[in-house]
Amino acid sequence: MGKERIYLSSPTMHGDEQRFVNEAFETNWIAPLGPNVNAFEKEMAEYTGCGHAAALSAGTAAIHLALRLIGIQPGDVVFSSDLTFSATCNPICYEKAVPVFIDAEEKTWNMDPDALEAAFEKYPDAKAVICAHLYGTPAQIGRIREICDRKGVPLIEDAAESLGSTFQGRMTGCFGDIGIYSFNGNKIITTSGGGMLVSANEEYVDKARFLSTQARDAARYYQHSQLGFNYRMSNITAGVGRGQLLHIEEHKRKKQEIYRQYREAFADIPAIAMNPLNPDGEANNWLSCITIDPACGVVPDRVMDVLSDENIETRPIWKPMHMQPIFAGADFFTKDGSRKGADGRSVQSLDLSAPAESVGAKIFYHGLCLPSDIKNTPEDMERIIGLVRGLFV
Ligand SMILES: *Cc1c(COP(=O)(O)O)cnc(C)c1O
Repeated sequence: MGKERIYLSSPTMHGDEQRFVNEAFETNWIAPLGPNVNAFEKEMAEYTGCGHAAALSAGTAAIHLALRLIGIQPGDVVFSSDLTFSATCNPICYEKAVPVFIDAEEKTWNMDPDALEAAFEKYPDAKAVICAHLYGTPAQIGRIREICDRKGVPLIEDAAESLGSTFQGRMTGCFGDIGIYSFNGNKIITTSGGGMLVSANEEYVDKARFLSTQARDAARYYQHSQLGFNYRMSNITAGVGRGQLLHIEEHKRKKQEIYRQYREAFADIPAIAMNPLNPDGEANNWLSCITIDPACGVVPDRVMDVLSDENIETRPIWKPMHMQPIFAGADFFTKDGSRKGADGRSVQSLDLSAPAESVGAKIFYHGLCLPSDIKNTPEDMERIIGLVRGLFV
């Protein structure tokens, strides 16, 4: 008999979700509107303290609307985190604006504020910054906020992976002019698919609701003066979200415990380093990741293969955006300045012992995400840890 699969991060339902969904069925609110949507928005605004919230069909839709709300035009330069999922920056291209990528820093794996400063020197007219909080570790968002304020440029905070993480006591997602969250299937809480746009600016949030429901004018007939989108969250989906939100603190505690267990288990292996935390904040530890010192001879692929043979799911670190074939030619900034042109080569063709050309590339080459499913049993954790340790000791 095969061993039962251990997942990277799968949905964990509690029963409350079903209750809210049943209510929607019983009242026949099977629409992209309704009491669950309104309540979920209110509850998210309260939980995060970000002010106001608009429930949308995806985190990606929220980033797209954020760019529209701040008025990004074709040709505008928008700075984006480089080491992230492509959803962070794809909406820049939906608007025919120009993404410019900012390297990660060792300290948090997030946008390097010094590299951002370097990018503003070359592009003083950049129109927005999108900063992600990777794997739930808060970025140095205070410094990034300060740079954006000094330059007079709006900040969009991609908190898709960091719902519940804080920086200096405030929730990530609340530092940007606009913040976004995702409820995709493997995020810390899920609605199967969905997203939320949050802002202290109520006008932005009202406008997001308007744009997400096809931008219908307040007229008797179907009249449109602006380009609309079908991006609203449904009342069924929002019911799942309401049930999940009741359990977010519990999910967070379990994720933090998984991180602690891995950190302790690998503490005596100098070749393994955990993904960083931010001492100025608290991470939700959405995914626990490691990097492996290339000098020790164990490559991440080897760890992934060994775990995969035991039916255990892992994931590579996000491949940096400047290395993506689709963004070939995009400008890219490390803290030492700009380097144009994408490195679209596959990892397999790379000499992993050669020094990486950026911090993000280095993390990508030498890192991987370990199973961080909150349903992992102590025996599951022991098995994963034993298999990884077996490669090093
Ligand atoms: C998941 C994710 C998104 C996109 O969210 P969707 O809800 O899947 O559209 C955006 N940015 C980051 C960093 C993510 O991990």
